[in-house]
Amino acid sequence: MAYEREKQVAIAAVQTAAKLTEQVRGDIPEAIEKKDKSPVTVADYGSQALICKALGEAFPTDPIVGEEDAAQLRQPEMSPTLDKVTSYIQALIPNATPDQVSNWIDRGNGQVGARFWTLDPIDGTKGFLRRDQYAIALALIENGQVQVGVMGCPALSMDGGEPGVMFFAVRGEGAFVMPLTGGEPTKVQVVPADDTANLRFVESVESGHGDQEGQKAVAEAIGITAPSRRLDSMAKYGIVASGQAALYLRLPSPKTPDYRENIWDHAAGAVVVEEAGGRVSDIHGQPLNFAASAKMVNNRGIIVSNGVIHDQVLAALQSFAAASPTA
Ligand code: AMP
Ligand code: MG
Repeated sequence: MAYEREKQVAIAAVQTAAKLTEQVRGDIPEAIEKKDKSPVTVADYGSQALICKALGEAFPTDPIVGEEDAAQLRQPEMSPTLDKVTSYIQALIPNATPDQVSNWIDRGNGQVGARFWTLDPIDGTKGFLRRDQYAIALALIENGQVQVGVMGCPALSMDGGEPGVMFFAVRGEGAFVMPLTGGEPTKVQVVPADDTANLRFVESVESGHGDQEGQKAVAEAIGITAPSRRLDSMAKYGIVASGQAALYLRLPSPKTPDYRENIWDHAAGAVVVEEAGGRVSDIHGQPLNFAASAKMVNNRGIIVSNGVIHDQVLAALQSFAAASPTA
């Protein structure tokens, strides 16, 4: 099987990181503000450190394009925070030092290339702080294609089971879900129907991360009558991949028209949904370009579907754009 070692290393790394993030979550995490005003927590840093350490040991020449870096943490006034991150890591790696932790985090400052990993150590930090959904997402991109995707969702449960699931996929080999702590993987598949009256769509909890009015209008235009399920993070990709919703709509927010999506927010989810039989594109039907830079500069918004209804969604978006060309 292709990419077997990469898959195993990625799964193990995400499982270890999830132990740390869940530990932090149990201790009531505080938000730290980043330069771009977005929140980060000791769990984001700890998760990135653990995953970059594991990848660095297994694949020392592979670059990692991660969301976080240690520049802010290395500032003298941040040393209590760095110590806190280090102490969470020491629960898993007893001799870790603050210096090592900063260096592991900064392994995630790599550049895109012929082969690289992209990592979101906590996707949906706002959800994490609200004690809602979040995901730890890791993907391997080779020759422009996402080949391996692993998505740990510590707060998500399937079919009323215990919270904590992991989705993973290797291109060409199907998509699977298993308990986050390990267990028998089950193949997942998107919902096959185009009976839109019985289909649901998912969207972000954060209204500023999309266009909820537009999303509602598109869903209605293709005949989806059920209200949306709102959840944070890439867990939305898992919901579509496992047939619990047919569609995930993420239209550009009118408040941030210049926003460009980050590769780490979508790469792992995209391969999971595609391997589950679904389709992923931007709002113009263009494939997502994960290989050009950390930001998908030429893509706008994200449409994730079961495949069957994808063209209908794109047609609805086109007719809305034609009706209001400035939108
Ligand atoms: P979600 O949990 O689906 O709301 O997605 C969380 C992700 O939204 C974060 O990882 C951010 O990178 C991303 N994000 C931040 N600002 C915006 C924005 N204006 N539009 C779309 N996504 C955003
Ligand atoms: Mg994110």
